[in-house]
Amino acid sequence: MVIDLRSDTVTRPTPDMLAAMAAADTGDDVYGEDPTVRVLQERVAGLLGHEAGLFTVTGSMANVLGVRAHVRPGAEVLCEAQAHIVRAELGAHAVTQGVTTRTWSHPQGRIDFDVLHRLVAPPSPYFVATAAIEVENTHNFAGGVVQPLQDLQKLRSLADRAGLRVHLDGARLWNAHVAAAVPLDTYGRLADTVSVCFSKGLGAPVGSLLAGPSDVIAEAREWRRRLGGGWRQAGVLAAAAQYAVDKHVERLADDHVNARIIAETVAAVADGVVDPAAVQTNIVVLDVGERAADVVGAAHDQGVLVGLAGPGVIRAVTHLDVSSTQARAAADILADLISGHLAR
Ligand SMILES: *Cc1c(COP(=O)(O)O)cnc(C)c1O
Repeated sequence: MVIDLRSDTVTRPTPDMLAAMAAADTGDDVYGEDPTVRVLQERVAGLLGHEAGLFTVTGSMANVLGVRAHVRPGAEVLCEAQAHIVRAELGAHAVTQGVTTRTWSHPQGRIDFDVLHRLVAPPSPYFVATAAIEVENTHNFAGGVVQPLQDLQKLRSLADRAGLRVHLDGARLWNAHVAAAVPLDTYGRLADTVSVCFSKGLGAPVGSLLAGPSDVIAEAREWRRRLGGGWRQAGVLAAAAQYAVDKHVERLADDHVNARIIAETVAAVADGVVDPAAVQTNIVVLDVGERAADVVGAAHDQGVLVGLAGPGVIRAVTHLDVSSTQARAAADILADLISGHLAR
C-alpha cells in the first residue's frame, strides 16, 4: 500500500465525514441562505476571535481576499521570502489586485524584526506605500515552523505603531495551536484578518475560511463572487469542514509525533540531514543534497511518496491518512535510502 507523504492535502474524507456531508441542510449560499455554511462561518470566526467569517474554495482565495482588504492597488504587503502568498499563489495578489510585495528572509520562516523595521516605507512621494504585513503560522516551506507567540505580539505592536494591518495566513494554524498550546483566538486577535484551511491536516475535501471584522468580510464576500468563487449549496462542503473542526483538531498531535519519528529515524543514520528538535509540527524537511531526486524516485518505487521542496531538499508531511505504523515504515525506508545514497 502506498504511503503518501507529499502533502497533508492528499487526505480523503472519512466515512463519518461523508455521512455528515450527506446529512447537511443546504440552501443557496449566493443568497446567504445555506444554513450549514452560515453556522460554519459564525463558529470558526468565533474560534478565531473575529466578528465574521467567509467560507472559500481555497486558502489562496482566502489570502487574496484578506490581503486585498488591507492593500490598495500599487501599495505593498511585506512578508517572508518563502511565504505561500509570494511563492505558491501564482501571483494572484499582483494579477488580480495590483498588490506589490517586498520580503525579508529567515531560515526558519520567522519574523526578522531588524530587517522588517527597515522595510516599512516612510510616507513619501517616491516610495510604494507599505500597507500591511503578512505572516504565516505554521510556516509551510520553512518546515511547519510555529511562530513564537511573543513574535506575533511584537508584530502587532509594530504594526499598530506604524499604522499597518496584519494578515495571518493560518492554513495550518490548527497545527500551531495544538503544538504550542496557544488558543486559536489568541493567535486570531493579533491579526486583522486570518485565513485557515480545512483541507490540510483537518482532512476536509475542500475549503478554507477568512475571518475578520464584519465590514471587511462583507466586502470579501463581494470580491469572492467577482473572482468566480460564489457557490450555491456549499453546505455539503461546510458540513465536512464542520466535522473536521469538531473531530480532527486534537488528533493533529499524532501527526506531530509521526513527523518527529520520521526525523529521528533518518537523523539516527544520516548526519546533518535533519534536526529532529526542529520538527515542531507535521512537516519534515530533509536536506539530502545532490541525490535528493534519486531518493525521491527510489522511495516511490518502494511505495513511499515524498516531494522535492527545493534543490537537494525532500519534504515529508504527515496527516490523517498516515498511521503511526505507516510513518514508522516510511521512516525506515527513507532512512535506508538516504544513508545508502550518502555513503556512495
Ligand atoms: C496550502 C496553503 C495555502 C492555501 O492553499 P490552497 O491550495 O489554495 O488551498 C495557503 N497558505 C499556506 C501556508 C498553505 O500551506
